[in-house]
Amino acid sequence: MKPLIEVINLKKNYKSNNVFQDINFNIKKGEIKCIIGSSGSGKTTLLRCLSLLESFDDGKILYYGNSEITSMSQEKEKNEVRKKIGIVFQDFNLWPHKSVLENIVEPLMIVNKLEKNEAIKKALKMLKKVDLENKKDSFPDFLSGGQKQRVAIARTLAMDPEIILFDEITSALDPELVDGILKLLRRLAFEGQTMIIVTHHLEFASEIADEILFMSDGLIIEEGTPEKIFCNPKDSRTKRFLKTLKKHFQEINVYEGIENFRAFNIGFMRKIKSGGEYYVLGAAKEDWWKSMGEAQHEWHKIRESKKIKLKMIIYELVKSEKEILYKMPELTEYRLISKDTEVPSNVNIYDDTILLLIFDNERPTVIEIRNKDLVKGYLNYFHILWEQGRQVVL
Ligand code: ADP
Repeated sequence: MKPLIEVINLKKNYKSNNVFQDINFNIKKGEIKCIIGSSGSGKTTLLRCLSLLESFDDGKILYYGNSEITSMSQEKEKNEVRKKIGIVFQDFNLWPHKSVLENIVEPLMIVNKLEKNEAIKKALKMLKKVDLENKKDSFPDFLSGGQKQRVAIARTLAMDPEIILFDEITSALDPELVDGILKLLRRLAFEGQTMIIVTHHLEFASEIADEILFMSDGLIIEEGTPEKIFCNPKDSRTKRFLKTLKKHFQEINVYEGIENFRAFNIGFMRKIKSGGEYYVLGAAKEDWWKSMGEAQHEWHKIRESKKIKLKMIIYELVKSEKEILYKMPELTEYRLISKDTEVPSNVNIYDDTILLLIFDNERPTVIEIRNKDLVKGYLNYFHILWEQGRQVVL
């Protein structure tokens, strides 16, 4: 099978600035490639060249097995190719004076020449896909960043592209909105959509990509499966980049509401490895039981079967915690600290992840933060308090 897109010896300059020297790669139908690399390495320019929004200086791109585009190609040829490429940008590029629905309908009428009724039908279907039917009459300024980005994705999907290029589409979003967008991309991946995604979410990239391309100084330095690039990088530039990114980058996910709170906690227990140790700072008291409801039994069952140990620092033991301690003495260890000790309440620490639990009766929330440095800081504090704490004797 011929690749959907094949890039051959692509070169691009901005005047004297040589952005790419010699880019070669291809992508097949149904494949997902993620491009990673530091700022200024040429990722955006590459996507813009692939979508033919930007001209290039030498080399060629073969599209869909039959259309060859070079730097000499005419606009007419390029337009034919462009129709089948979707691109989603960091900053959404929505028309502010048009409603959500109009933002999707107009390109369908202008570019794809659909009748208005047909275009509306299709736009509504796409809005449903991104869970935004109820916002069809809103204007972009009244939407959150995440909602704007979902409209932009719906607009692109409506054009039935062969391939979609995503350029750092979460980087203009508040951290708590990122997860929704990544979830949407996972759904598209599941449906078999061919995609090239520029991202700095390494974990997401490793989960979704068939292949990772690492770019530096206008070159593809390394390409391969996520396992090869993330676990066994060969080039010193890749190693350095991954190290810097891991050090400074935080991945934050927010799970709000009773259903999400319970599902997250159960899912987390299922996900973590057996025999692990889990540090809990601050007392949940009865609030944990209230927020987890029936799901707490399932949570304990998994914990017991996986022999997950808890080391907890708390102010006082409530009845339900005592019961647990009787039941699972080998899995649970408590230390009591005085009530006036400053504890950032309800911080759970596991591996390189911090979980902040907020027990609001209406909307209990889990905030998951992946960051090694932060974990190290909290663990140091935990160990100091542990030393100062008083062991519980029943
Ligand atoms: P990345 O997406 O990896 O951050 P870019 O593709 O945005 O990198 O930029 C690659 C290089 O091209 C940088 O040196 C940048 O300054 C330059 N560049 C990007 N766009 C333009 C432009 N429109 N005019 C001149 N130089 C540009």
